[in-house]
Amino acid sequence: SRDQVHYFGAGPAPLPTPVLEEASKVLLNYNDTGVGITEISHRSPDANAILAHTQSCLRKLLDIPESDGPDGYQIMFLQGGGSGEFSAVVYHMVSLWLARLTTKKQQGLDHEVQKMKLDYLVTGSWSLKASQEAARLVGSEHVNIVTDARKHNDGKFGVIPPSDSWTPSKHADDVALTYYCDNETVDGVEFPSAPDGPNLVADMSSNFLSRPVDVRKHAAIFGGAQKNVGTTGITIAIVSNSILPPHSGMADSKLLRKLGLPVGPIVLDWPTIAKNNSLYNTLPIFDVWIAGQVMQRLLDQSPEDKSPRITTQAAESNQKAELLYSILDASDVYSVVPDRSVRSRMNICLRIKGGDADAEKAFLKGAESKGLLGLKGHRSVGGIRISNYNAVPVAAAEKLAQYLKDFAKEQE
Ligand code: PMP
Repeated sequence: SRDQVHYFGAGPAPLPTPVLEEASKVLLNYNDTGVGITEISHRSPDANAILAHTQSCLRKLLDIPESDGPDGYQIMFLQGGGSGEFSAVVYHMVSLWLARLTTKKQQGLDHEVQKMKLDYLVTGSWSLKASQEAARLVGSEHVNIVTDARKHNDGKFGVIPPSDSWTPSKHADDVALTYYCDNETVDGVEFPSAPDGPNLVADMSSNFLSRPVDVRKHAAIFGGAQKNVGTTGITIAIVSNSILPPHSGMADSKLLRKLGLPVGPIVLDWPTIAKNNSLYNTLPIFDVWIAGQVMQRLLDQSPEDKSPRITTQAAESNQKAELLYSILDASDVYSVVPDRSVRSRMNICLRIKGGDADAEKAFLKGAESKGLLGLKGHRSVGGIRISNYNAVPVAAAEKLAQYLKDFAKEQE
């Protein structure tokens, strides 16, 4: 049963049991209406209240500037997952770049468009995928790989090369976006702090709500819900008003087409979603409700005078990660995959005896027999991965820590 296991899956990932217990009730009867939460209209007053509650919790947790004015940020819920946003960011930032260009130049646009650059920091599998999607949409000649971490680490991910080795595009005006993935889920690499670059966009799918974020530094931040936040089905985007109408123009779709630039599907169109407060089309309001409940719990555990309110959870994430890394570092049986300076607090990737297949199999089998589940590394890299998301209790990390010690002793 649920209370006999601890689950460390990388996503979908564990959710707090009390939230799921409440969810099972509201599926049948929401707010005493006799109608289940997945049955109510996404435009009903109940749905509107759920949406507003989740947005308000998120604003407090990450200290996101209010939604009005040029310095404000919109909080949107979209579908299509993190992968959908790989495309959405390109559609949006390219259209924005072109709109800015056309206010300066009326002629020779064909020529000017050749200069457009999308700057990608490739530090793991997900930023690599995002950069490949950009190349598919706009052509690889427009994609500038600012850094490819594999080139600094024997062909493998596991480091973030020093910023003085990066090759950002020369002219900031040419750069439609600077893209990075804050936490690489497959490779266990996390940025210690946000990098610099014009029109900064971050994928925070796998470390969303695990530490404070310098929101104001970013044009946009996005993340799928299915790790720290909720159920698979919604993606959260936090987008600066400065890159949305009416504060910023967007290129006309005819002009984009004429210049050979991509026009995206309307359901991924940030201005459309923002204008309609995420209700352009049917929003899976149950997923928004789950996210709201998870966020409310984070707020409830954090003192009101703390800002941002995510600080309390961040301390717990650090505590769990430090405990696990300290045991891994203390034994020769284990080797942590990424470099110490960029180790993820969320996805702890390791090998046993340098990647001994039998030893890793035995580790997983032994873990399973103790109710420690979901520890297998991503199929593309193998090994062991401990996903240390918010809903993994300290007690679960402690139990796993003990198992790590016991297993190492057996192997020595
Ligand atoms: N970005 C990151 C960092 C991820 O971990 C994932 C999925 N694990 C994605 C993007 C893709 O998300 P989705 O499967 O929701 O498209």
